[in-house]
Amino acid sequence: MLLCKSLLFTYMFLGIVDIIADVHGVNQSSFYLIFRVLVLTYCYSSFGEVKNKDVRILEVLGLCQQDPVNFRRENCSCRTRDMLSPQGLLYKQPSVLKGRTNVVTVTPWLAPIVWEGTFNPLIVDSIYKPMHLSIATTVFAVGKYVRFLRDFLETAEKHFMVDFKVHYYIFTDRREDVPAVVLAPGRNVTIIPVPGSNRWQEISSRRMEMIQTAIENQIGKEADYIFCLDVDTKFHGRWGAETLSRLVATIHPGYYEHTHEHYPYERRPASRAYIPAGEGDYYYGGATIAGYVRDVHKLTKYCREQLEADAANSIEAAWQEESHLNRYLLYNKPTKILSPEYLWQDFKAKNNEVQIIRFSQVNKNYAEVRPNVKKRK
Ligand code: UDP
Ligand code: MN
Repeated sequence: MLLCKSLLFTYMFLGIVDIIADVHGVNQSSFYLIFRVLVLTYCYSSFGEVKNKDVRILEVLGLCQQDPVNFRRENCSCRTRDMLSPQGLLYKQPSVLKGRTNVVTVTPWLAPIVWEGTFNPLIVDSIYKPMHLSIATTVFAVGKYVRFLRDFLETAEKHFMVDFKVHYYIFTDRREDVPAVVLAPGRNVTIIPVPGSNRWQEISSRRMEMIQTAIENQIGKEADYIFCLDVDTKFHGRWGAETLSRLVATIHPGYYEHTHEHYPYERRPASRAYIPAGEGDYYYGGATIAGYVRDVHKLTKYCREQLEADAANSIEAAWQEESHLNRYLLYNKPTKILSPEYLWQDFKAKNNEVQIIRFSQVNKNYAEVRPNVKKRK
């Protein structure tokens, strides 16, 4: 293939030299000239084909999907900007010798794992706040889950991306029950009507499809980053710009002390969420996904397609979209990982590793809030 390419390239080059000679008066018939232009055009298009074939191979692996979405803000600050820190900012000098020792703070592919003590909020804020980023935040409150909205929004206003432009997108079938919560300047809410369902599994899973669509219709044009969060939660501590990155996942609080053979991965090869025994990094929670809008769009589109393929084969992965999410993140590694500080469960006691609980799932009465009950983990 390489030899073939080289020959074609040499022929093209000689052809161009000949044409230039012709144009400058070397005597050859115009028929011969046209013939060579046609050959050159063919050579050029063959190069195009070779290139397209490479792209197609990547597409089969799901690594090079063409995005139909126009991400209006993608070239602005967040992707390309320097991490400018103001002169004169005084803070505790970072050390290369002293730091957190009772937790792992970096993955084997060198993505940071964010724990209290691994970042300085003062530096992080001084870098990110002047960027004037737009942060989209999706939250679903379908059926009785609308009752969780007030606490979610009120605590988010106290702790979540404070001083940033946050646009909450509330997906609900109960618009009239959405509480009026006072928002800080620069923060606003859009309500997106969605249908209800008799199965909580479907409500939870269909978030992928609805987020994908919302990104294509609206969010892709408006936001730099997106957070997709569960509503049955409350913020208790700072959740700031230390959580921004290209693709951000959160370690599930129920499994961080376990090895992957104990993870509730989908183990049936018939499902698209299948992960073979022996493989696995961390078990990621479906309650928080984040990143650049483009990357989260790719993730939601992938999960949606896998969920639909499973449904067409009459199979449902062990933990629905969370199972597909875990497969995606095993083979498309996240660029930043949030420690369980960013996804706790109220019923779990605090421990030595988790020095601060920032965001936690409230205790809920499953029989009372879910249309069809199934207690988890
Ligand atoms: N959800 C909803 N209505 C339902 C079930 C789920 O709005 O009847 C949404 C809601 O945003 C919730 C998320 O889907 O936070 C995930 O479901 P759930 O919290 O019940 O799952 P868990 O966190 O318990 O695994
Ligand atoms: Mn939840």
